Amino acid sequence: MFKINENYLKLPGSYLFSTIGKKVAAYSSANPDKSIIRLGIGDVTQPLAPAIIEALHKAVDEMGKKETFHGYAPDLGYEFLRNAIVKGDYESRGADIKADEIFVSDGAKCDSSNIQEIFGSDNKIAVCDPVYPVYVDSNVMAGRTGEYNKETETWSKVIYMPCTKENNFTPELPKETPDMIYLCYPNNPTGSTITKDELQKWVDYANKVGAVIIYDAAYEAYISEDNVPHTIYECEGARTCAIELRSFSKNAGFTGVRLGFTVIPKELKCGEVSLHAMWARRHGTKYNGAPYIVQRAGEAVYSEAGEQQLKEQVAYYMNNAKTIREGLISAGYEAFGGINAPYVWLKTPDKMTSWEFFDYLLEQANIVGTPGSGFGPSGEGYFRLTGFGSHEATVEAMERIKRL
Ligand code: PLP
Repeated sequence: MFKINENYLKLPGSYLFSTIGKKVAAYSSANPDKSIIRLGIGDVTQPLAPAIIEALHKAVDEMGKKETFHGYAPDLGYEFLRNAIVKGDYESRGADIKADEIFVSDGAKCDSSNIQEIFGSDNKIAVCDPVYPVYVDSNVMAGRTGEYNKETETWSKVIYMPCTKENNFTPELPKETPDMIYLCYPNNPTGSTITKDELQKWVDYANKVGAVIIYDAAYEAYISEDNVPHTIYECEGARTCAIELRSFSKNAGFTGVRLGFTVIPKELKCGEVSLHAMWARRHGTKYNGAPYIVQRAGEAVYSEAGEQQLKEQVAYYMNNAKTIREGLISAGYEAFGGINAPYVWLKTPDKMTSWEFFDYLLEQANIVGTPGSGFGPSGEGYFRLTGFGSHEATVEAMERIKRL
């Protein structure tokens, strides 16, 4: 009889969004006259910008002609896109990244879950708590996380780095030395970010202890403050310790189009073995490339018109985040984030648990958010609202909260 990968059986059910869905459906069928505002979503809602639609149409037409048809894409992605990325995301920030260090993919979720494959199964991972769940679950599937403790909702072999208001949502260097460190800035779910000096400390630490940093910068486009790094390669020494993951989902609305990339500098090595070469081998074996049409759309993100249109789109979401943050503060809540990220993270009032606050907000204000405890034990007592809704609904939601 065949055997299965038993690590999958260790995964606790992911009940967060299904429980939210069920609760909202039950409330709405019992109260059909209530208009519910959904501020729990992490998905974008604005349509693709005109410059991107234009590039898509053009590429579709090319695919219909023999002379301009494209089959399999090159392993690392088309050079026109990798060159645009280098110019737009790295050279402009003074970061030394070359086009052949970029691996184009179909998004940061796949990359952030697949990247662990090139590391040994006895490596120890460190994650922020709360955290984007993909980092932990993909390591569970690979058998790297030990046993799950239902009481504490933690894995025995994972190093958790609590991020709470007490440490300004910035983790301290762990006491136990990790091999792989996952960092995500600007952060989902807390909406917090890191200064360049703080990130430099992590780079120095990783180089000192021989750890690798997997840096998820999916929300880079939302940075508004000057002292916040747009890429980990702005830090000195990052080329020998850091892999960076990027996405076109949140800066350009590609959640349904699918495009992202991973950066692995050539100096990043384990002894003599190059991680760049390993990922290239993996990419070439298991992946056949993002579609030509989509890579042309990605190129348009860096065009003058694309940049301008997307700046406006991001500003729309950030105006919502500002409305939420300021609305909550004026209603007497402690609210964090929403300045360099589309997420606002609030402290639940009166010692309410995250789920108690979820029910309270749904029943009293007909607003749906996401309970912080769903992102990890240190998320208990917090709650996430997002700027991805419509502006009108966001303003109305804040009016309702103020009236509570
Ligand atoms: N990384 C983080 C931190 C995210 O929050 C998300 C999506 O919500 C992703 C990655 C996924 O990005 P993509 O759509 O490129 O797969």
